Amino acid sequence: MHHVFLIASLRCNITGASNIRPFGLGPGQPAAVFVRRHCGYSICRSGTHGLRHYRESIGKLQECSAALNAKNLAFVIQLGDLVDGGIDNLDRILPVFDRIRAPKHHVLGNHDFCAERNVLLKRLNMPAAYYQFSEPAWRFAVLDGMNISVAGRWPEGSDNLQNGRSILADLKSEHTPNAQTWNGAVGEEQQQWLAKLLSDADARKQRVIVFAHFPALAASCRPNHLLWDHQQIVKLLEAHSSVKAFLNGHDHNGGYGQQAGIHYVTFPAMVEHSAAESCNVVSVYQDRLEIRSALEKSARPNSPRVLKLAN
Ligand SMILES: [Zn+2]
Repeated sequence: MHHVFLIASLRCNITGASNIRPFGLGPGQPAAVFVRRHCGYSICRSGTHGLRHYRESIGKLQECSAALNAKNLAFVIQLGDLVDGGIDNLDRILPVFDRIRAPKHHVLGNHDFCAERNVLLKRLNMPAAYYQFSEPAWRFAVLDGMNISVAGRWPEGSDNLQNGRSILADLKSEHTPNAQTWNGAVGEEQQQWLAKLLSDADARKQRVIVFAHFPALAASCRPNHLLWDHQQIVKLLEAHSSVKAFLNGHDHNGGYGQQAGIHYVTFPAMVEHSAAESCNVVSVYQDRLEIRSALEKSARPNSPRVLKLAN
């Protein structure tokens, strides 16, 4: 049995997965593979912007798509910031992403809100800004880290915007590094949705992987990139034995931390890294996750990062 997921974080962030099979695994058999990469593409920018080689990202995405189509992936999920600089750029990057044959899922990132929410949801064929999907024995929760924000395209007068302004003002008064307009919060309503999902997964003895654009654990990223309500999210995750990993983008440098048996992985961004570095596959076994480049060209597999899973 072999479950394969592709996780991609672009500036654009792209994720996907294909061919997840039932979880009745023998020792050493992978249950799933995740790939993640992070690219950035903006035709509005003149080729490069500092380290961010936006225009190169579409080429990297093409390279990644071809590599992924040679694999038996359960799904592909992009981790947000698929587009930058205007909705017109989505017309350039999305067809390349859609060449990936595996089932595709999306996470919304802060840069994606160069477009209206309803436009994004429709164009990306998303059921909602936060949602779940599942495979036998596994549940996957996708979060909207701009649910409470000042830059998440919420209308004037909405609670999401008003609460965003309030939280940002509080964080600024406390001089926290993540008091940035380009960050956001999951918020209470979405936390309640997540808690219910996790309780149900606990009861069903399912395992959960959470996908998000923003990092939640301080050890997994630079501090100015953290979700505004990262502490509440970590506390919520740790209250549920089903949670095994939290996989995100946003911090282009990437990062990793582990706490209370939960792995927090920030995948490096394609916009500042090679396709080989930023396009990764996560293989999910019963006792571990293995993360490796999706673009390993030699016959010898590259060295995976092995993350042990608690029972
Ligand atoms: Zn971002």
